[in-house]
Amino acid sequence: MEPANHSSLPLWVVIKNIHHRMRMTEGLARITSSLGIPLSLDRYTEEHLGTSSFVSIDIKAECDWPGCIPFYYGEEQNETKVVLEYAWIPISCPSCKLFGHTHDTCEANPKNTQKVREIKTNKKKENNQAIKSKTMSQDEMEGWSKPKGKGGPQNAIK
Ligand SMILES: [Zn+2]
Repeated sequence: MEPANHSSLPLWVVIKNIHHRMRMTEGLARITSSLGIPLSLDRYTEEHLGTSSFVSIDIKAECDWPGCIPFYYGEEQNETKVVLEYAWIPISCPSCKLFGHTHDTCEANPKNTQKVREIKTNKKKENNQAIKSKTMSQDEMEGWSKPKGKGGPQNAIK
């Protein structure tokens, strides 16, 4: 079932490759805030913050579902990228900013309201071509004498 007309949905997200500087709830909140509103870390994550975390985020429909998010740390602003995996990516409409339908099936999409159906009519051309007989007429037959076959093998008397 697809959710109908929700602007946000609580979804589980796996966050991997978390830098040791980020292994704290604030660091995770910083990542998840770019997706939506972090709801909770599961018990395992709270007790054993490691390189991967399993978090529930109230994700907005306009989320672009990034596969990774760059994170800068330290005075030198070193870059590390956290990897994001989603248990479920529901369909969403970027126009309405709602889950439950796509832009292609959106009622606000002008393509769907002004749909012009082109009915192709196939006009069959009738072939009235007269079949011309190529049989010889009686006049053309005259003047020709049938060979009577004198001495032919069919008249040979045995
Ligand atoms: Zn829509």
